[in-house]
Amino acid sequence: MSRLPNSLEARDIAYHLHSYTDARKHEETGPLVIERGEGVHVYDNNGKRYIEGMAGLWSVALGFGEKRLAEAAARQMEKLPYYHTFAHKSHGPSVELAEKLVAMAPVPMSKAYFTNSGSEANDTAIKMIWYRANAMGEPQRKKIISRVKGYHGVTLASASLTGLPNNHRSFDLPLAGILHTTCPHYRTMKKEGESEAEFAKRCARDLEALIVEEGPETIAAFFAEPVMGAGGVIVPPEGYWEAIQPVLKKYGILFVADEVICGFGRTGELFGSTTYHLEPDIMTLSKQLSSSYLPISALLVNEKVYAPLADESHTIGTWGHGFTGSGHPVAAAVALENLKIMEERDVLGHVREIAPRFLARLQALGGHALAIEARGIGLIGAVEFTHPSLADTPGALGGRIYQAMQDRGLILRNLGDTLAFCPPLVISEKEIDEMFDIAEAALCDVA
Ligand code: PLP
Repeated sequence: MSRLPNSLEARDIAYHLHSYTDARKHEETGPLVIERGEGVHVYDNNGKRYIEGMAGLWSVALGFGEKRLAEAAARQMEKLPYYHTFAHKSHGPSVELAEKLVAMAPVPMSKAYFTNSGSEANDTAIKMIWYRANAMGEPQRKKIISRVKGYHGVTLASASLTGLPNNHRSFDLPLAGILHTTCPHYRTMKKEGESEAEFAKRCARDLEALIVEEGPETIAAFFAEPVMGAGGVIVPPEGYWEAIQPVLKKYGILFVADEVICGFGRTGELFGSTTYHLEPDIMTLSKQLSSSYLPISALLVNEKVYAPLADESHTIGTWGHGFTGSGHPVAAAVALENLKIMEERDVLGHVREIAPRFLARLQALGGHALAIEARGIGLIGAVEFTHPSLADTPGALGGRIYQAMQDRGLILRNLGDTLAFCPPLVISEKEIDEMFDIAEAALCDVA
């Protein structure tokens, strides 16, 4: 790292507080400054090239440097750089995107609502659910269930949905009324002698027991990612969703599918909900919606959610919610172009074609002496590592492997001792091999 007083690194340390970073350690280490990107690669300010094996933050579906997205943004900037969607106002890009998303939905959806981040989308979903409960004369029905290790964001309500200790500890979270049920990770959560199918059924029984204990009339909704991402890329066990969904239906509980990572091709189908035959009432979308070239997120809501909300807004005189940037025209134009390119280039077909190679290399890496499990689906996966000498310091080995990979030119994300892989959807077979070759070499450095 450059230590020159006027370097970007020194100024970063002086002025910039970073997300998900040990701030004191950062004062010592400084940042990795990324300067530009092209395809699946990014380059730091010394010209060193890295494969971005995480597509940024699970998000840059089309890779870096896609000129058509920059051009779509520039065109919209010149035409109408900003307008809002409050108080009956609208504009072309938000209408077109809403129409497109409703048409793409895997189950019938009535309306799209726009927000700016995954966290905002999930917070908005909770507010919609509460508003709806009041509209339906069920003011007691406000509790929400999500899952241990689920990730739904960092705003007050979405961080409460998130089932990870670091998102609660020292923040005085979770908020009251947000509850967590069993994480569907078979290897770590199974009981002695329990098969995967039995474990899946027990997860559903755990959910039902929580609902009954709390009072079914008090439970409004269940939030879940089809495949858990930041909690460690937890692919649900066989039969999990088939067991969970009937419980929700039995008690009239709304199902919110958080598709912020899975949406738009990650699991080899358009949505994770398609992969697992889910029937959500609300879907939250972001990240690959615009390949994250600009921040935008959306909720899709079905008629069951929309109709009471519409009625209540009529009674009160307004749906008193919205962000200055809701349906931002430039972000919406970029999202539309992103979805158009995905269709034109058949990105989904490409994911299906190369996923077997990705998963085979992932499994091979999982055979390393330090690895205890490899798991994945489509183009998302993870390898979990452990070492007896470091087992008492969770994350220590993961941190070392992550650093060794970065030194060799591969950027991944270590979630404790789990290394996540989530490359741009446009990655080629050759680049998949390059990514795993680097990962294997880096493991030799550490082992
Ligand atoms: N939901 C899921 C499944 C996510 O993975 C994330 C972010 O990684 C979020 C919600 C929050 O999105 P954002 O960081 O845009 O607020």
